[in-house]
Amino acid sequence: MQSPHRPSLLRKMNVRKVLEVIQSQGTLTRADVMRCSGISAPTVSKAVSALLEAGLLEERETAEFSVGRPGKLLQLPRFSAQVIGVVLEWDYCSIVASGLDGHLHEDKLDRFKTPQSYSELIEIISGKILNLVEKEEIPALGVGITVPGLVNSNDGRIFLASNLHIVDGQAPAIDIASRTDLECVLVQKSTSLCLSEKTYGAGQSVEDFINLDVTSGFGMGVFTGGQLLDGQHGLAGEIAHITVEPEGGRMCGCGNLGCLETVATDLALTHYVSKRLGKDLEFEAIAELVKQGELDITPELDHTIEFLAIGVAAAINIFNPANIFITARLFDLRDDVFDKMCEIAKSRALQPSSSSCEIERSKGNKYLGAVAGIINHLANSLGPRLT
Ligand SMILES: [Zn+2]
Repeated sequence: MQSPHRPSLLRKMNVRKVLEVIQSQGTLTRADVMRCSGISAPTVSKAVSALLEAGLLEERETAEFSVGRPGKLLQLPRFSAQVIGVVLEWDYCSIVASGLDGHLHEDKLDRFKTPQSYSELIEIISGKILNLVEKEEIPALGVGITVPGLVNSNDGRIFLASNLHIVDGQAPAIDIASRTDLECVLVQKSTSLCLSEKTYGAGQSVEDFINLDVTSGFGMGVFTGGQLLDGQHGLAGEIAHITVEPEGGRMCGCGNLGCLETVATDLALTHYVSKRLGKDLEFEAIAELVKQGELDITPELDHTIEFLAIGVAAAINIFNPANIFITARLFDLRDDVFDKMCEIAKSRALQPSSSSCEIERSKGNKYLGAVAGIINHLANSLGPRLT
């Protein structure tokens, strides 16, 4: 997969630009790519060659005429090559195959309860990947693994997954690669959702946006100036563990008391409702009872969105984004929840930043996040890392 010679940073950026143009526009000729990217013909040609060689692009003949002569059409392979997405979560894990164009082969989505030990997790996932690849008979270019935790981007090791401690200190991409012989990459779930929004969702033409995933932890991914913010070890944008309840706060998976993550997520809401009712309920069960009119969760819901809004306001003040995309199931619990949360967040944030920031529900999803993670990694491996 590595180029025989060391490509320049500029070449890498050009490769990425060409890939982005085709990801957002679909099937294009080289001339179209030149027009859309503003890159010169020889440079487009080199970038396209690298992408074709890596299997990230394919081309087919066309009878159509472009700029006065027949052209070959460039596209992202949908069925002739695949990548695998693995989503690790505290309750269930999932494995899904996808075309390089982000078309998920959802009929083959495999969702299973998260194993109790790390070794079992790795064995089960590796076995399922090998089954999937052998059954499909389509070349698999790599595996993107996402985890709701802090990943050291330098060595692929997980510092901490506050809701999935069996992976703390582990490097699942290295362990799965050694068992499957496939290129694997581990990406923080928050980062992967951000990449998914940028590649396939509403963030395609946005330079400055934030993606929040508050389903279990309080994950934040940041694109600023068109670049993913990663910091020294890939940990930038970590907002989950700022203290918001210094007095009487609940114990967080990170070991501190009163973190934002303990009060502002779907999981936090589930905890507080379960505590009042005196029994452990899953989010889906609570949602069903609320829908049937058999359970009133107004106090817990209002408490959760108050703290969620504090986190959103902080993100607006710190990063001045044009958009914030949020993934949360609690918005479905009552018609006014999302609007109410936005109203509180905007009233708490600084006016100049909040008045120019659109808060929306995220259009990406966790499977596409894992897929975007591996495609991004494969494109990056065509050149040296930016940082
Ligand atoms: Zn914490």
